[in-house]
Amino acid sequence: MSISQPPTPCPPHRRAAIVSIGDELITGQVLDTNSAYLASRLVEASILPVEHITVPDDDAALAATLVRLARATDLILCSGGIGPTPDDPTREALAIALGEDLVTDEPTRAALAERCASRGRPLTPLTLLQALRPRSAAMLPNTAGTAPGLFARLRPDAPAPGADVFCLPGPPMEVHAMFNLSVAPALRPVLRGGFATRLVRIVGLGESDAAAKLGPILARDRNPLVGITASGGVLTCRIRAQTPPDATSDSVHSELDRTEASIRAALPDHVLDGPPPGADRSIAPTLEESIIHALARRAETLACAESCTGGLLSEILTRVPGCSAAMVGSWVTYSNTMKESQLGVSRTLLESHGAVSDPAARAMAVGALDRSGARHALAITGIAGPDGGTPDKPVGTVHIALASRAADPATPPIVDARRLALSGPRQEIRLRAAANALALLHFRMRGLDPGRGRLSMEAACQPTAVARA
Ligand code: ATP
Repeated sequence: MSISQPPTPCPPHRRAAIVSIGDELITGQVLDTNSAYLASRLVEASILPVEHITVPDDDAALAATLVRLARATDLILCSGGIGPTPDDPTREALAIALGEDLVTDEPTRAALAERCASRGRPLTPLTLLQALRPRSAAMLPNTAGTAPGLFARLRPDAPAPGADVFCLPGPPMEVHAMFNLSVAPALRPVLRGGFATRLVRIVGLGESDAAAKLGPILARDRNPLVGITASGGVLTCRIRAQTPPDATSDSVHSELDRTEASIRAALPDHVLDGPPPGADRSIAPTLEESIIHALARRAETLACAESCTGGLLSEILTRVPGCSAAMVGSWVTYSNTMKESQLGVSRTLLESHGAVSDPAARAMAVGALDRSGARHALAITGIAGPDGGTPDKPVGTVHIALASRAADPATPPIVDARRLALSGPRQEIRLRAAANALALLHFRMRGLDPGRGRLSMEAACQPTAVARA
């Protein structure tokens, strides 16, 4: 399939918008992965995405969105809604926005006819919809599917330059192929330089506590710009440096180094190690990678005893390739009977303190340490909800414990336990419990004072009895 006329984008591209099209995206039946892909490709090309929008299969709504965005940006990347079914709105919407009629693109019609003939299929009116384009638009070849893309320059307020609009298909494979073939070569970033990024991960802190400690590092007019996102009990600081045209790679990296050093200085206990020397520094190890790699470097091992997380902590740890260098095994002990029979937690202790208690978490950790022979054992017991909370132990009450063998085998293990007050739905509480347990191990491996208050999710109310198992 050929392009009817080559794209001649209007330079330069400073601000881009990404439009995802489809009822299935609006209703949450399909996860919009195209916009994340397109945004990351734009950032790579030094073009700043300033807006993402999802629009239903509605010609008029999409046309109005395109016109609005053509006034606010100079580049619009759309995906979806360009297939051969009558509910696909993109072709029609682009024509409405341009104020043009749809014409048949002859080379595309011929290519579709040839394709159908070679497969012994009839050339139907629906197939032929894909040969239509707004009069001034160009077709973009689709090397991974049938529906061609479209390119047009939309100038709702001519002579103002307006925006270049690229309409790509919906299937992610086709988006990637068409972006590489037709969009990437047509991009005109303002800067010769680009963005350089780095990630720094933080454990044991909530987003607002981290923001308070980072203070001016998070100023929105700063370059490099730092943003924080929270996911599964771990915070990620994204550092993004905009590189001036004459910047060298070294100067950009030293800017990133300086910002990373400021973050580490502001949160010395909580920042995870970065990637090993020589590795891509724009990708930071995850919490589980950081823990497994640190254990492996120290030739230390870990076992887990889980109740409310039901194996989630172990699942997270075993995502890391090579985890067998550090991970020896786990127990999922949901009932009191299993805690007793598998980990040796005493019935008296469980009856007097309850299974969700500081002493129970400690006893589970020590039981797992003894039975596994590992250097460290983590235990989690809590109330993940939505039911099961009491005034004393509301939903989100989770006790975590870490037992570590002392250097002298004659000395009893060192045991730390924390009561956490976690919020959110069941799965979030379970994830945060696992992340906080790993944070406890992170602090211990750093040789940090395990004093209370280091985990910001710790409950204000401290446990009553501190019984060693
Ligand atoms: P087709 O020729 O397949 O009809 P199309 O351009 O009309 O292509 P859609 O019908 O919108 O695209 O979507 C086709 C497929 O791509 C569907 O499976 C849809 O769920 C998926 N898809 C669409 N948009 C996205 C998106 N933003 N992220 C991930 N998948 C998407």
